[in-house]
Amino acid sequence: MRTIAQGKLKQSLLWLGMAIVTSLIIVFAHLQHLEAQVGRHYWHKLTAEFSESSLPIPKIHPLPETLAKWKNASVSGDYFPEVEPTSLGYLVWSQFPVKIYVERPTDLELSPSSLRRFQEWVNAVEEAVEEWSVYLPLELVRDRSGADISILRSRPALKASINRETGEINLPRVRSAETRYEFYLRRGVDAPQVKTISHKFIIELTPDQTTEYTLATARHELGHALGIWGHSPVETDALYFSQVSNPPQISLRDINTLKRVYEQPTRLGWSFVAGKD
Ligand SMILES: [Zn+2]
Repeated sequence: MRTIAQGKLKQSLLWLGMAIVTSLIIVFAHLQHLEAQVGRHYWHKLTAEFSESSLPIPKIHPLPETLAKWKNASVSGDYFPEVEPTSLGYLVWSQFPVKIYVERPTDLELSPSSLRRFQEWVNAVEEAVEEWSVYLPLELVRDRSGADISILRSRPALKASINRETGEINLPRVRSAETRYEFYLRRGVDAPQVKTISHKFIIELTPDQTTEYTLATARHELGHALGIWGHSPVETDALYFSQVSNPPQISLRDINTLKRVYEQPTRLGWSFVAGKD
């Protein structure tokens, strides 16, 4: 006789199998609720450390020239309402070029075929960076420590969760990428008491996809890291919430949305002189 536990196990294995099979289709899951907490926590930390009146209020940065001259909004529309601000405001960059680090092979032991696959991954990611650099000034850097956005060739960790009521384990979905941000204070080079509320992005992008999908995923995730923290409901936008068999290019609607994001106020990128109450 089969026990319930065995039945559950079988069912779990079946689900695991399905999760792997569908990994190419369902991918763009982001931890937005968790991310919302990141902003709140950081804001609490700042207000505990500095007097609130010394902290910058949300303001709009001047548009980078590339977006200032972009005019299409009334033609193709946008999906700006889907973009979520953080507790510190919209995730806009204000110091250009935005510095992007792309992981490169350093392991000298790699076999020629592994090395080639790694290089193809790097090429695809850099192509995505080049595509976005039409709309925002971006620069590839070799030193990760100075990067605003780091793109790493790794599989996002699987995160299983337990349903507290039923005790069942929810099997994680295999994801091709995970993008997350963090906040930090940047000190003035000449005046360390002058600080700027800054952010950084980390993108983990799996090595397990074809070059075409690596490019498509990098394009999508970079869209998030450049400020579109939300998803389009339309399949032909690069920020569509699901991966599709024929990956979309960066669309007019993507750029209309990006421009609207950059027209929003944020606390990020504004300097203040650190003062205590
Ligand atoms: Zn996404």
